[in-house]
Amino acid sequence: PLIVEMSNLSKVYPNGTVALQNVNLTIQEGEFVCFVGPSGCGKSTIFNLIAGLTQPTQGELKILNMTPKQALKQSDTAFVFQDHTLLPWRTLLDNVALPLEIRGISKKKTHEEAERVLELVGLKDYTKALPRQLSGGMKMRVSIARALAQRPKLLLMDEPFGALDEITRQTLQEELLNIWQKDSKMTVLFITHNVFESVFLSTRVVVMTPRPGKVSSTIALPEPYP
Ligand code: ADP
Repeated sequence: PLIVEMSNLSKVYPNGTVALQNVNLTIQEGEFVCFVGPSGCGKSTIFNLIAGLTQPTQGELKILNMTPKQALKQSDTAFVFQDHTLLPWRTLLDNVALPLEIRGISKKKTHEEAERVLELVGLKDYTKALPRQLSGGMKMRVSIARALAQRPKLLLMDEPFGALDEITRQTLQEELLNIWQKDSKMTVLFITHNVFESVFLSTRVVVMTPRPGKVSSTIALPEPYP
């Protein structure tokens, strides 16, 4: 099934900045798509549209055949950001369980689920630890676990490994690939400006050039500035 369908999608901010112009892009279930391009090319705008945090000025966007807001409400979409925002006074288990608790799921269930995903990211011995006891790489694993606990159909990752050292980044890249490969139905969209990371991780790279509105999928040749 189609997970993301963008047709003639444009986004012009109120100050007149054209962030995206006539973007056509479809993403199938199970893809791992990297969005790569320099700052200002519209990567975050695409994610914000998919998350329903901002509205397109033109065109249509469907997530799993729904509006982005409906998809978010059904918790089909989950996020991982570079800034992992773990609550410092909550244990790892309670951090990971929080989004499920908010949804009113029973304590027993949320804890089982939190334990499952913490094990998935290699932190099963740290369920009682507090965030300040962790390295940057471990905190990122917790953020990934928290997103996975929602069993999202669509996982949006915005430069998640940007702040990590090279070795930790490589380890986490491999772990993420393992997790994704185990779940053939989870679609991952991953923003990076690291071209090497994009080709290593993804099944498809969407190259975005700094010229507003140019999105070329798969293989894109650089285009000259106007
Ligand atoms: P990226 O994530 O690739 O750095 P963005 O999607 O953040 O790119 O930005 C795309 C363009 O839209 C840039 O020119 C940016 O300055 C502009 N932009 C982003 N958000 C806003 C906003 N809220 N208001 C006005 N312009 C914006």
